[in-house]
Amino acid sequence: MPSPALGPRVLLRKLREVMAEPEAAQKRLDKTVTLIAGNMVAEVCSIYVMRPGNILELYATEGLKREAVHKSKLKTGEGLVGLIGDQAIGLNLSDAQHHPAFKYLPETGEEIYHSFLGVPIMRGGAVLGVLVVQNRTLRHYTDEEEEALQTTAMVLAEVMASGDLKEMARETAIDVAQVRSHHLRVESLAEGIALGHVVLHEPRVRIQNMIAENLPFELKRLDDAVAQLRNQVDELLDGSDAARATDYSDVLETIRMFANDKGWLNRLKEAVETGLTAEAAVERVQNDNRARMQRMPDPYLRERMHDLDDLSNRLLRILTGAVATASRTDLPQNSIVVSRNMGPAELLDYDRTKIRGVILEEGGKTSHVAIVARALGIPAIGQADGIINLVDTGDEIIVDGSTGEIFVRPTAELQKSYAEKVRFYAKKQARFTALRDLPALTRDGQLIGLNINAGLTVDMPHLAESGADGVGLYRTELHFMMAQRFPRLDAQVRHYRSILEQAKGKPVTFRTLDIGADKTLPYLRQPREENPALGWRSIRMAMDRPALLRLQARAMLIAGAGQDLKIMFPMIADVQEFTQAKAAVMMEHGILKKRGYGLPRNLKIGVMIEIPSLIWQLDSLLPLVDFASIGSNDLVQFLFASDRGNPKLAGRYDPLSPAALGAMRQIVEKAKQHKKVVTLCGELGGRPLEAMGLVGVGLTSMSMVPSGVGPVKAMIRSLDQAKLWAFMEPLLRGPLHSLRGDLMEFAQRNGVEI
Ligand code: PEP
Ligand code: MG
Repeated sequence: MPSPALGPRVLLRKLREVMAEPEAAQKRLDKTVTLIAGNMVAEVCSIYVMRPGNILELYATEGLKREAVHKSKLKTGEGLVGLIGDQAIGLNLSDAQHHPAFKYLPETGEEIYHSFLGVPIMRGGAVLGVLVVQNRTLRHYTDEEEEALQTTAMVLAEVMASGDLKEMARETAIDVAQVRSHHLRVESLAEGIALGHVVLHEPRVRIQNMIAENLPFELKRLDDAVAQLRNQVDELLDGSDAARATDYSDVLETIRMFANDKGWLNRLKEAVETGLTAEAAVERVQNDNRARMQRMPDPYLRERMHDLDDLSNRLLRILTGAVATASRTDLPQNSIVVSRNMGPAELLDYDRTKIRGVILEEGGKTSHVAIVARALGIPAIGQADGIINLVDTGDEIIVDGSTGEIFVRPTAELQKSYAEKVRFYAKKQARFTALRDLPALTRDGQLIGLNINAGLTVDMPHLAESGADGVGLYRTELHFMMAQRFPRLDAQVRHYRSILEQAKGKPVTFRTLDIGADKTLPYLRQPREENPALGWRSIRMAMDRPALLRLQARAMLIAGAGQDLKIMFPMIADVQEFTQAKAAVMMEHGILKKRGYGLPRNLKIGVMIEIPSLIWQLDSLLPLVDFASIGSNDLVQFLFASDRGNPKLAGRYDPLSPAALGAMRQIVEKAKQHKKVVTLCGELGGRPLEAMGLVGVGLTSMSMVPSGVGPVKAMIRSLDQAKLWAFMEPLLRGPLHSLRGDLMEFAQRNGVEI
């Protein structure tokens, strides 16, 4: 083989010539394999292309039997080629036939070749095909040869993605070439179904020139770009915002370390020396890293590789002058935005009329962007680790926010069935809209109050749209979470005032700050805790930092001047905490009154029942409160000692169990005894079957996600409450794990709309 440094360069130059020839794609591919075989002194060179159904098809060969072209096919995972395609790894074998994955394809006549070097043809982390060279003798290919083949594969990837193969697929009368379909089931962040096309929040940089004309020039470009990158990172790190947020500065510090990492820089230089332009070299090394990243079992290391990936993207942008983020307005219809992560404001920036779904590699249910997605009614999925590497701008994709599923490049059948689902969903929504102005009255005459949960200004239009009675839970912490720093009094007053204005006279229940556990404020230092859900959070923090609660109370009282105002406290564990918190609000009330401020005409102060200890204090607590609201998300988590955010525990205990429903029943009974209004504001209330169980135990008011109001109202209007309670009562005393099955049966037998 020619000298290792020259080999790939000569090859790349010749490859460019072949590609520029005005010939049919098949012919060009045939010439390509001949060229590679010649350059690498191999007897065989073959190109396999990934086809629909995850099949690798032989598209061109030098050395294997020509008749096998477009006939030989391997499923991913099958044979050596399938293994490369499946795992995105290279294989360098001196005796391929003794490898456990070897599969003999008689039509190719490959039994006489022993040594085998195969590499994935990758683009943006997706495997488009496999490139293989083979020799008769038992030999081990050198590292330089492996490098050279990888560089060649990368150039081929560009050719394949540039449409040549699609053109070829038409010529060969096969349907359009397409890379692998993927199916992921991860975490749903916001309900709903969407079909659309991928928009990468940070678009992938398109490289125009892969092959270097002038090596010293490319090396200089690389050096300059790296210097610029280091400056950028230093600036970011020295920026005052980053310095304050310790978590973020850790990430930047790691990035700075990578930016100065000799190993990485050497690999970039080596890639240029094989004949690539500076940007192609960055992409080449990035592809290797991505492939390594996908195989890495340690999540911490995977995370660090992500950082390196970010850095490569920055470098690519410096070299090509590409923009950093997708256009917010010039979007295709039915856009599904895919991102590693995203702030809520960034999502709000997108043109709402075109964005149909969001997929994040990070992002949990309580992340701010998830909250905004839910508020906007955009289906969203989180924790989709590795999704960015599986997709490209324009790819077809389905987001199923009801199950947490993603289908990348779905088959036509799947698209059809999902389109049907979307139509069905829309029909149902239309039916719920028709119920908007009808009362939530059971068949036996029980009126149920239906309210919405909110936490942002963008939630408020849902109040009128859903026809709900009011806002049963306004989570004030979201405003704090989205701010850059602690909102001052006037900012808080403005915010609460605008919420009350938008409610247009319907009641709003403001909950005081519920910070802690998974809800953190970037500007508030919080100690690391072993069990943050059971830790220093929420009202506990407010007890220790009374100024915080008092400032918030003052803002609410000022905003509510002349109106009805409802305030409630979260995470109360005993009566004393409630009296103390109420005293703080009343002290502010007194001060404002003395200073001559206008005050709410009617102030109601309530408690959230979300810590089980309160169930045994209801007789002393209820006389002191104006109303109570069951926070079933936390109440159920604490009743069962089962972390509400842990996917391993999801579904293990059912809120429709005798224990949970029994607890609710007890609260409802006590509230009746003390003539106090009790409502529920956990997620349960928004799901028709669960809401039916709650109405069954006697609850007459609930607050829920706005999209739950229609379905729950339909359920209520078809339900006989007394009949349901008679059915449930004996079951609640029994040993069942859950009443779910029985309730479903009841609903079906009695025509209750679930
Ligand atoms: C709850 O715990 O049920 C609740 C409504 O509060 P959050 O979900 O905000 O903790
Ligand atoms: Mg709670």
